[in-house]
Amino acid sequence: MWCLSCNTLSDTLLCPACKKKLAALSFAQLYEHRCPTCGTPVLDPLYGCEFCQDALLSYGVYDGVLEHLITGYKHAGHIQSAWLLAELFVPLVARFGCPILIPIPSSRSGRRSLGYDHMALVTWILCKKMNLRSIRLLAQQPKGQYTLLSRTQRQQTSNLVFRQKAVRRMDSLVRSQDNAFLILDDIYTTGNTCRRARELIQSTWDIPVGFCMLARA
Ligand SMILES: [Zn+2]
Ligand SMILES: [Zn+2]
Repeated sequence: MWCLSCNTLSDTLLCPACKKKLAALSFAQLYEHRCPTCGTPVLDPLYGCEFCQDALLSYGVYDGVLEHLITGYKHAGHIQSAWLLAELFVPLVARFGCPILIPIPSSRSGRRSLGYDHMALVTWILCKKMNLRSIRLLAQQPKGQYTLLSRTQRQQTSNLVFRQKAVRRMDSLVRSQDNAFLILDDIYTTGNTCRRARELIQSTWDIPVGFCMLARA
């Protein structure tokens, strides 16, 4: 087979050289400091720790091999990357205990061109690997209504909505146990999507919601 990042002949989905480069992009290797409270890698302990402050964990920097894997998966249909990306999530998700996973939905156009929802697939693999549950609670509002809004309105208004058929299951998940919920997404840029997803969820249910991302842009 061919390495998913550099395209050289390889016995594994990622060749050994790319595997090393991928690890070098992780915050675990990039940051030499650790949060004194929870041990999460931090750039500078003075800035505080996003895990302690915001229940946010991410794997590494959106660059090089990590960027190739994510863009190849999202835009070029390299579906095998889903397994590699899920692997990167495992130690991060484990820090949250046994959370119920909520993937950020793909846009309709993304789903149409790929034929699947990319974060939903990674979430499905994670659930199998880690014996967790997930719920596809959110959907992206159809573009038609969304593009009528002005740019500022779009920035203020979330295009995320609840999938109506998931709401009752969410009610029962919330009632059933003391569950933590974890929003999963691939790239964290401004964090707006995730924060709006959390606001939307917490406007309906009084529950803790964390964030887990692969890459920080
Ligand atoms: Zn390679
Ligand atoms: Zn911490």
